[in-house]
Amino acid sequence: MEEKVLIVKFGEVAMRGNNRHIFISQLVKTMRNNLDKEGDFYIVKEQGRLIVEDRGAEMDYDRVIPRIVPIFGLVGVCPGVKTTDQSMQNLREVALKHMQMFFGKEKTTFKVEVKRADKRFALTSKEVAADIGGYILERMDNLTVDVHNPAVTLRVELRNDAYVYSKVIKTFGGLPVGSSGKAVALLSGGIDSPVAAWMMAKRGIALECVYFHSPPYTSEWAKQKVEDLAEKIACFAGSIKLHIVPFTQVQLYLLEKVPHDKLTIFLKRAMMKTAEEIAKKSNALALITGDSIGQVASQTLQGIHAINSICTMPVLRPLAGMDKQEIVDLAKKIGTFEISIRPYEDCCTIFVAKHPETRPKTNVIEGIEKKLTELDDLINNAILQTEVIEK
Ligand code: ATP
Ligand code: MG
Repeated sequence: MEEKVLIVKFGEVAMRGNNRHIFISQLVKTMRNNLDKEGDFYIVKEQGRLIVEDRGAEMDYDRVIPRIVPIFGLVGVCPGVKTTDQSMQNLREVALKHMQMFFGKEKTTFKVEVKRADKRFALTSKEVAADIGGYILERMDNLTVDVHNPAVTLRVELRNDAYVYSKVIKTFGGLPVGSSGKAVALLSGGIDSPVAAWMMAKRGIALECVYFHSPPYTSEWAKQKVEDLAEKIACFAGSIKLHIVPFTQVQLYLLEKVPHDKLTIFLKRAMMKTAEEIAKKSNALALITGDSIGQVASQTLQGIHAINSICTMPVLRPLAGMDKQEIVDLAKKIGTFEISIRPYEDCCTIFVAKHPETRPKTNVIEGIEKKLTELDDLINNAILQTEVIEK
């Protein structure tokens, strides 16, 4: 019996120590999450590998591989074949069929590499490799052997079952989600913040996201966009809790009370404070924003200083040193760009100053804020009315 499977390799470095089984379970959970959208699959833990088996029909690699490749903490995804019959004759046949499927007429060089987890196997790894290599060579005249620098390495792994594969599809790398603690990402519908969240998730940070929604000044479409962005990031980083904070009252209060050229700074400070409260409740240890130095008025170093002074948690700004084009390129690569550019502009610009201050003074801002006596209550109210969606 043989069947098409995916052989999934994960990064060993992050897997050392006591947490190994937790990280592997997390990877399996993320894989399940992503695969559920495609059908009914088994995930089998083999030593140092995760094997994906299709419980329904024959596996369609084109549908399954894109669901697995994004997951952080994986180092390679290999479309291959599993067979329970480890007799030499069967291994030869399975290997030949695999090579014919992937390299039917293509002129190329190859070698066979065999790994035996099960040393009870009668022949040595080298003997098995030579046998299978010879068998294929006789039957496919487009192939030649090159043991030193082959274009294709056909791998045969003899474990509880035998696995045969020849392609290793590169993944995004990174660390398994949760291996570096948890942070709260401030996710707007823009291009930058999803990329920032993605970058930190890549380093193993589990994410919760916060979106500040201000109906009727921001539309339902804008909210949907953020939900879709969170779902996209979850394909890489495992399931994500998205907190949707109704922020209209806070925004209107600030609009009324603070000088218009400083409004953005106060708004951002209120967002940071709110996000930090949510982060504390979720046992998160940091915030993540999509700031890129100098991109807009509030992202000058003075602006960031004036916003950041309200925070007690570290704020990770992975895009700080990136140019807009670099951010856009990355957004395209990870698939958030198309969602971010959907044309649902906020329907009102009353919160945007024509001439925002680019060099706010932190002490001046803090002085004004002390007199905003209702702000804390408004923020607490917003937190109480927050809607949480699991993506
Ligand atoms: P983005 O492209 O991520 O929207 P931006 O360049 O438009 O960023 P700003 O509007 O100055 O920049 O916002 C800076 C950061 O503040 C964003 O990257 C995001 O992390 C956070 N932020 C801004 N608006 C919101 C919002 N409505 N909800 C959640 N976070 C927000
Ligand atoms: Mg924005």
